[in-house]
Order: sequence, then structure tokens, then C-alpha cells
Amino acid sequence: MRLASGSSSHTGLVRGNNEDSFVADDARVLFAVADGMGGHRGGEVASRVAIEALRAGVAAGRPVRDAIASANDAVIERARGDAELTGMGTTLTALVVANGQQLLVGHVGDSRAYLLRDGTLRRITEDHSLVEELVREGRLTPEQAEAHPRRAVVTRALGVDAEVDVDLYPVDVAVGDRVLLCSDGLTTMVRERDVERIARSEPDPQRAAEKLVDAANSAGGDDNTTVVVVDVLEVDPVGVPATEPAAPAPSPARIMTPAPEVSPPTTSRESWPRRIRNSLLLFVPLILVLAIAVGGVGLYARRSYYVGFAGNRVVIYKGVPGGVLGWNPTVDETTKISASQLSQLDHDRVAGGAARGSLGGARRFVARLQAGVDATSTTTTTTRPHATTTTRPRTRKPRTTTPRTTAPR
Ligand code: MN
Repeated sequence: MRLASGSSSHTGLVRGNNEDSFVADDARVLFAVADGMGGHRGGEVASRVAIEALRAGVAAGRPVRDAIASANDAVIERARGDAELTGMGTTLTALVVANGQQLLVGHVGDSRAYLLRDGTLRRITEDHSLVEELVREGRLTPEQAEAHPRRAVVTRALGVDAEVDVDLYPVDVAVGDRVLLCSDGLTTMVRERDVERIARSEPDPQRAAEKLVDAANSAGGDDNTTVVVVDVLEVDPVGVPATEPAAPAPSPARIMTPAPEVSPPTTSRESWPRRIRNSLLLFVPLILVLAIAVGGVGLYARRSYYVGFAGNRVVIYKGVPGGVLGWNPTVDETTKISASQLSQLDHDRVAGGAARGSLGGARRFVARLQAGVDATSTTTTTTRPHATTTTRPRTRKPRTTTPRTTAPR
């Protein structure tokens, strides 16, 4: 496959520094955008460390999912022992070549990948953001999401947990296709149809990237904006071995529905009892699979724990946020930590249901929150009021500032 790329990154017109980082390496066939979060220089450091680790991982021949996991480790490691960097995190959306006809996007956070084909822009990635999760669950309309005061809340990022869930999107490409990677500075300022129009009308990838960043700044430039444009110039003939194992597209539904197996048609020569017996034999495994699936969901709902808010207090819930098939979460343990004591990033994570999984994991997360609270209470917070602001302030279209609220989900 032969690709050509262009890239552009800008601080914007409002922010003091650029917390976005990117790589566009035609030779290594690695393209990525990272949007950092964190007080002081935390956001800058997080996105840069993530991009460097991603680059090293891919250069060492690791699959993109592993390279992103190593980037997560690198961000956590860099923050360790450095109070100014505590709580930093970053998004990461990376593009590599899977094989001669397929690209592969690895994705965490709310930066985005788009595919422009035949003049039509299609979004590849799902945002790991609170509002987009609410839209997927049918609890918000896309229009409500666009104006939502908590639209800046990211539900998945690097640098937060030792384990990171990476979404993989294989993208079959043809000559003439164009992939865009961008930080949310572009998509919060420029409507998708305008992104499409600009990406479609400018053939040169470098100029296209620059024009897209210019459009974000012309619309106000409220955030850092980074755009990487990758054009597919040639694809390989079928039969060239894969360089990256093809991965199945992630399913938005976490509950698997078993596909009923198709039985060979019964012939009319069979007697009735035999046909009935055959149908029963066909349905027994199906019923078993369904029973296991339903039981599994129940076990998942009742055995799983997460950290959330009960009123203003941080608690450990038993269950899953929002409940599953009638199994609603119940408070299992309470803590002394109140919402107001948390950093913005921790607050947002708890609001979204943090540390989902084992009770031990939830307790460790609470211990980490407590440690953060203890650390904050022993340092001067008055001199640096924004030290723990780890979520990126944003405005929505049209440009109206949206004050961040602390109301729990
Ligand atoms: Mn941003």
C-alpha cells in the first residue's frame, strides 16, 4: 500500500498551550493524534509521552493494540512520583496498515477517525465520552448532546488505569480514499458537513490538514486543533501477507445474542414423531445457549462492581451502571470522599462509573482517590486554583461558554 499524508496542529485562539500531539510517519506507516488532559503541563506531557511510546512500540513490530497499551503504561509511569503530572491523561487515535488492502484504527478517547470516500465523510470511531454513551443508550438525542454541559467528559483515556480497553476498527480501503484523524478541537468547532466539504475540495493532504485547522480557528479556535490527513495512493494486489492481524470490528452491544443454527430441511418422507424429535433436538442446544447467555448477563450484573456517586458521596456499587435487564446496581460500600474533593478528571470518571469489574479493583480505585484527596489537602490549593482541572474546557457551537457542572450523572 502507498500512502501520502499531511498534518497540522495549532494551539487555537483561546488556550495558552497546545496539549495535542501527533505523528505522521509515511515511512513507518504510522499516523496518530493524541489530545492530552491535565493541570499545568500534564496534558502536553501525556499526549507527547503517548505518541513517543506508540511510535516505539510500532517500530518494534508490535500490533497497534499492544503499542497503545504500552503508551498507556508510559503515561502512567511518567506521572508516577511527579505531583504536577498526577491525574494527567490523553486520548489516542492511531492508524496503521493491517495488510495490502486494509488499514487499522486503534482508538481510545474522543479524538476521531473519519473515512472520506467518493466525496462522502463517514466517521470510523465512536467517542468514549459521557454524552456519546448517553446517546448510544438512547438517553440523549444527538442535538441534546451537542449542547450538553458535560460534553467534554471523556470516559476512556490513557494514563488512567493499568488496563486500557482499545477499540480496533479495520478499514478496507481503495485508491482515492482519504482518512482523517483529528482532535476534538476540529469537531467541536466545525460541523461535519463543513469538514467533508473542505476535505473533499482540497486534493493536497498537507493543504487539506491546514485548511481544516484554519476552519476551526475561524470558528473561534476554542481548543487545540490537530488534523492528520492520509491519502491512499495505491493498494496491493490481494495475496500479500498481512503485517497486522486483522481484527473484528468492536460490537457496541456487550451482550452476545447467539445465532440460531440453520438445520437442513426435513424431508416429507420422515414420520411425524421423527420430525418432532428432530425439532426438539434442534432447540435444546439453542435454549441452552440462551439460558447460559441470560445467566451470564445476570452474573455479570450482580457480580460486577464499580465506583460511582450516591448523591454527593463516592460509593462502591454492586452491579453495572444503569443496570442490566432489570438488575439494578446497589450501594455495596460507602466512602468518606465527597464529590467536591475530587479532581475534575476523577470526578468525571466516577460520574461515568469508574473501575468497573471486581470489588478489589473498585476498592483500589477508591484508595487511589483517597490518596489523591489526602495529597491535595496537604498542598496549597489556593495559589493554583486550576491545578487539578484535568478536563478540557470547551465551548459548543455556536460559541457560548458552557460552565462545567458537578452534578452526578
Ligand atoms: Mn481537545
